[in-house]
Amino acid sequence: MKFYFYYGVMGSSKTANALMKKFNFEECGRKVILLKPSLDTRNGKTTIKSRIGLSSEAIFLDRATNIKDTLKNNYIYNVIIVDEAQFLSPSQVDELREMADSGIMVMCYGLKTDYTGHLFEGSKRIVEVCDTMREIQSMCSRCSTKAIISAKYKDDKIIYTGEIIDIGGEEKYITLCHKCWKSGSI
Ligand SMILES: [Zn+2]
Repeated sequence: MKFYFYYGVMGSSKTANALMKKFNFEECGRKVILLKPSLDTRNGKTTIKSRIGLSSEAIFLDRATNIKDTLKNNYIYNVIIVDEAQFLSPSQVDELREMADSGIMVMCYGLKTDYTGHLFEGSKRIVEVCDTMREIQSMCSRCSTKAIISAKYKDDKIIYTGEIIDIGGEEKYITLCHKCWKSGSI
């Protein structure tokens, strides 16, 4: 089966797209597992909610989790959908690739690059091994051309360096095209 990467900047409805895909597959009788990498050591079940109100139960994975082992006993599935796939470890991506090769459809949704403009570790491995990449497009918040980066800012100034993983929302990040990102302020 195929391994897909649907990527976009923050606020590009990736989670809503992932949840709609899950509902569509389930309507066709497919068995879907929704996974979400967690940045701390939480494991177990959680609920994923999108901004437009869709929600679904998902399984949290920390970076050390072996995906196959986690799903082995309690789940029947032929489709795996991953939200926030940029936070997968490279070895988890390799595991998903193997599962795709053995007949599971794998769909990863996530950010391609971080706020410094470089690939996330997990996204890098996905780009390397996936069959198909599709962009979920959105617009620059300033000039309405295509956005390519979730820029980090503080006091209207764009931040280009620092810790890569820094969870936040609109108070900290804004989606911009490359030209507006380079401009230094929002
Ligand atoms: Zn722009």
